[in-house]
Amino acid sequence: MAAKLLGAVPLEAVTAVLLSHLHPDHWHDLPALRHALRSRAGHRLGRHVVAPLPLYVPGEPRELFTQISSYQEVFAVQAIEELSPVCGGKAGGEGDFTAHLGAARVCFYRTRHVLPAYCLEVVLGASRLIYTGDTAWWDGLADLAAGADLLLAEASLLNVDRPLLPGDHLTAAEAGRLAREAGVKRLVLTHFWPEYDLEELRREAQTEFGGEVILAREGEVYRF
Ligand SMILES: [Zn+2]
Ligand SMILES: [Zn+2]
Repeated sequence: MAAKLLGAVPLEAVTAVLLSHLHPDHWHDLPALRHALRSRAGHRLGRHVVAPLPLYVPGEPRELFTQISSYQEVFAVQAIEELSPVCGGKAGGEGDFTAHLGAARVCFYRTRHVLPAYCLEVVLGASRLIYTGDTAWWDGLADLAAGADLLLAEASLLNVDRPLLPGDHLTAAEAGRLAREAGVKRLVLTHFWPEYDLEELRREAQTEFGGEVILAREGEVYRF
């Protein structure tokens, strides 16, 4: 994924990294990005020419956080739980945190997942992006996403397969329902399992949403 990212934007354009949680599909490419940053920073020659890149990451599981914290030569590692707990007064629940990245404000809302995980809200001027992260449906999610310009929602499985999971992920139908109840302007589905026909996921979400449903593609850039 680091290679795909750097195919879409130059390394210099990456100004921060936000990790929703520490399952391998969400962070295992970090060492590859670290390697690219180490090369850029001239560490092989012992020169420090670039400031560490801000990296926001859950503080649990502790052993993974400790490992990632050791990448400090290129990342300024920040535990999400040590951020300010104020999120514009919107959700205000325990486990909600906020940070400022340049002109953007980012809020992290704790989701319902097997590991500590966060839904991300990025506010830039009058525009808002909501990324669900990995999560089961939870009350308040539609309120959080209300009126978002872009909703990036996980759609891990079809509704018919819901009994297979203990409630850690959204179905495509739930992603569509979320988009409809929140009245978002655009819905992009992500977090696909390889066994699925993506068109089937898209149709299920569309039936619930009623608006256009976009399937996320590697290398594509989504603006909000
Ligand atoms: Zn996960
Ligand atoms: Zn995942």
